[in-house]
Amino acid sequence: MIQNLGLYVHIPFCAKKCAYCDFPSYAGRMGWRDRYVDRLVSEITQTGVLHAHPVAETAYIGGGTPTLLTPNQMRRVLDALNQSFPLAQDAEFSCEANPGMVSDAMLDTLRAGGVNRLSLGAQSANAAELSLLGRQHAWRQVEDAVARARRAGFDNLNIDLMMGLPGQTLATFEDTLDAALALEPEHISCYGLIVEEGTPFAQGVLQGTLALPAEDEERAMVDLALDRLTGAGFYRYEVSNYARPGRECKHNLNCWQRAPYLGFGAAAHSLMPGLAERRANPDTLEAYVSGQPAEIATLSPADQRFESVMLGLRMVQGVLLAGFQAMHGVSLRDVYAAPMERAVAQGLAEMDERAFRLTLRGMDVMNAVLVDFLDEGQ
Ligand code: SF4
Repeated sequence: MIQNLGLYVHIPFCAKKCAYCDFPSYAGRMGWRDRYVDRLVSEITQTGVLHAHPVAETAYIGGGTPTLLTPNQMRRVLDALNQSFPLAQDAEFSCEANPGMVSDAMLDTLRAGGVNRLSLGAQSANAAELSLLGRQHAWRQVEDAVARARRAGFDNLNIDLMMGLPGQTLATFEDTLDAALALEPEHISCYGLIVEEGTPFAQGVLQGTLALPAEDEERAMVDLALDRLTGAGFYRYEVSNYARPGRECKHNLNCWQRAPYLGFGAAAHSLMPGLAERRANPDTLEAYVSGQPAEIATLSPADQRFESVMLGLRMVQGVLLAGFQAMHGVSLRDVYAAPMERAVAQGLAEMDERAFRLTLRGMDVMNAVLVDFLDEGQ
């Protein structure tokens, strides 16, 4: 029996590549969908047999834009998942969707296949910001998608937002937060823009045609999100994620606690019990569809311990001491006493008998804290 198993399915098709995106997603390749789904169904089915059909606690269909599959193609994926991995009774089953690209027929197909949580890539309520990002929707399509998702029976919705965009101000971000809250979702994610090498955004920043908000302005956006969302009944449970109580994304929480997961599709990763081996499927459609095998990376005990810290500190609850000890056979303090003490002394972290966690100030400079942990415990 595999405890807390999560499933991830990657659907890498997009209508158009967004200007900031370096995810493994492909525009203009819709003709590949049938072949891709054939391979996906076969991978899911074979893996289910290999692991003797374990129960899954969570499942997540991400992309790309999963709702660009036809309802029939999506049904095949959902059937393969449900037949190969029975879902626990209270399982959380999420699917990402882009506003303007999710039909009623798709929403009904998702519901019929057990999907009970929808995550909408809304990003911004400001038309100029959406256009700069290269997104294909307007905010009224976010409103429309939410209304139709509710009608289809989704009672658990996430809205993804972005901060730190070129030209974005505190005022436009506040408008976006207000617009998102007006939709009454159960969960809101606020991701800071990361300018990834090789994207049109990176080129724009390099050439000086795109100006990012100053660091203190971006920090003010983080504070504003915290203030506004907390005031509206959400609580921050991870550096970028806010939920109404009980509506945290269980799938992501399990990943941040290094629970095992199986990934299917191009570029999908898996981490299995024993938790020492990460498998990465090939990135390209060609390599994946042709059945090229996953790459396997073996994680040393030190790598695994650092991964627990790196992922655990993203969460407001921090790294749970008992969980760390049970997973690694050694206490967090025994491995990381020096960087832990330094972080506490600088007011960046705190510890009690249950957990070691970052303070609000520590969350702002999480990468710097992690660098201090990196060389310890080798
Ligand atoms: S929709 Fe998402 S995955 Fe597709 S290009 Fe845009 S950001 Fe990337």
